Amino acid sequence: MVLTETSAHPTRYEGLTAPPYAQTGNVAGATAEEWVRAAIKPRGAPSLMGGPFERVHVFWLAGMSCDGCSIAVLGATAPAVESLLTGTIPGVPLLLLHHTAVQVEAGEAYMEPMRKAAEGRLEEPYVVVYEGSIANEDKLSAGYWSAIGEEVSATGEKVQVPSAVWLRRLAPKAAAVIAIGTCATWGGIPAAINNVTDSMSVADWLGSDYRSALGLPVVNIPGCAPIGDNFTETVAVTLLFLQGIGPAPELDELGRPAWLFGETVHRGCTRGGYYEEGTFAKKFGDKECLVELGCWGPVVQCNITSRGAINHMGGCMNVGGSCIGCTMPGFPDKFTPFYKAPPGVLVSGTGSKLLGSFVRPLRLITQRKLNREVRWDRGGNGMPGGWGADLSTSTFDRVTDKFYEFLRHRGAHGTTKKAG
Ligand code: SF4
Repeated sequence: MVLTETSAHPTRYEGLTAPPYAQTGNVAGATAEEWVRAAIKPRGAPSLMGGPFERVHVFWLAGMSCDGCSIAVLGATAPAVESLLTGTIPGVPLLLLHHTAVQVEAGEAYMEPMRKAAEGRLEEPYVVVYEGSIANEDKLSAGYWSAIGEEVSATGEKVQVPSAVWLRRLAPKAAAVIAIGTCATWGGIPAAINNVTDSMSVADWLGSDYRSALGLPVVNIPGCAPIGDNFTETVAVTLLFLQGIGPAPELDELGRPAWLFGETVHRGCTRGGYYEEGTFAKKFGDKECLVELGCWGPVVQCNITSRGAINHMGGCMNVGGSCIGCTMPGFPDKFTPFYKAPPGVLVSGTGSKLLGSFVRPLRLITQRKLNREVRWDRGGNGMPGGWGADLSTSTFDRVTDKFYEFLRHRGAHGTTKKAG
């Protein structure tokens, strides 16, 4: 298969027809949608739902993906996927998920709802989620990179339809298009330098003018893999907007949920105090700041350090890994080689070391003072307990204490002056 700059075949997927409808492909003989409709009872009239829609379809399309985004979402807890699929979040419609990896039906039974959606025959609104980057299928004269389902050409030839083509078919009528993971949001690893597929993001594929039926541009949830909660929370917020009971999700200039990607990794990092005091890890496994081992946290927009990977647990720096910028549009090419410190460390790291060499000793003096009870100071004999620490006060302690107390109480009123 040869990819050339001059070949362009965006129209070879027009005029195709669906093959005959085949049986469901599972022993129950029911589609997932039929099962959900029968098993999960409606919660009441639309007015009790808080909005007009009881159910919303989600078409999960996959391009050049490792399925890591799907796995990350399965681990989400706030809200959990189960809550979205069973419709237990007040105001949020129940999701009818169409996902190649978890679907019970196969073949045309799987494809039918997508066809209905593309042709405007679906009863409920739908959201499109795209995982993986989009190989430039327009430039192929034959074959495909990532496809879902088969259709028949005018000459009777069977044609595999790329997921990217399905995205183009579904996007115009979708309530929202959500790109999940760095491959879908910015191209990611499949779009790294020297790739042969001319891979790109969902927004690059649909174009900057794209707006969903709700008027939203592509919603981007980056991360490799993304935080599952970032995705499920954004879905819930988008659906509340669809219901008319919540505001439009606040997106930044790159289509990211602004409340999730407005801060840097560094600002929420548990190792930030080490950075501020200028103490840096020499090897992986050390407890200090990882910036000299290649951490890009000070400039990378991501909430992994504050939110954790799953259930507020884990997440790169929390478990000893440095930030390699996986949520950023420049990833991976602008962050390699991953084992080298970012060039900016020369300035900020040196500054932290200089300041830290002055601040650290002062903090140790203060800490020594705060580790003594007021009662022990009054007696002048140090700690009376059996722990073995020598906390008796020296002349140096007494002088620095006096100066510290002077500064602490300067400008204070009333009895606080006597508290220490
Ligand atoms: Fe910042 Fe990275 Fe150091 Fe954490 S490990 S404090 S994110 S530079």
